[in-house]
Amino acid sequence: MPSAPSVPSPQDSKFVPSSLDRSDGTSPPLAEPHQSLKKLVRLGETAVGKGVFARRRLAADRILCEIEGEILDDYPDDPNYCMGLPSGKLLEPAAPLRFLNHSCDPNCELFYWEDEETNQQEDRLWLQTIRPIAAGEQLLIDYCWPAETAIPCRCGATTCRGWIVDPDEEHLLPAAVAGGAGA
Ligand SMILES: [Zn+2]
Repeated sequence: MPSAPSVPSPQDSKFVPSSLDRSDGTSPPLAEPHQSLKKLVRLGETAVGKGVFARRRLAADRILCEIEGEILDDYPDDPNYCMGLPSGKLLEPAAPLRFLNHSCDPNCELFYWEDEETNQQEDRLWLQTIRPIAAGEQLLIDYCWPAETAIPCRCGATTCRGWIVDPDEEHLLPAAVAGGAGA
């Protein structure tokens, strides 16, 4: 399934889990070295192409790693994997995390670190679990695409919105489309 540009809105608070509102932390969590990530996840095949799977059980609210990749000013030729950054630039993630797939019922979440003193968000993205993940389970995030780039969703979740779209923009889908996408 082709995917449209993944551009979460930097202003969207849903990318800043409340669990990260730490009174003790004054600096961002250290990114786990890439080698550590390889011990946690592996690439595998899914019905929609490659996906990222847990090698072992992962606890809820665990910060897995920083999303590493290339920061771009404009969309590349293949923008399918790009993620929006607070500055408006784009992050094109490196493997394996460029292959994170979408679910309307995700088990992981991306977030931006916000400096506590300045309330400024850096151009850095992090991946965190939002519920326990079993060994072998696929890691999934909610792409939350703007309505204008939404495509039909076949994630299979019981709460599937029918479209890969930001819940806050679901109402912006054409009425005929939104009506036909329901149960
Ligand atoms: Zn869905």
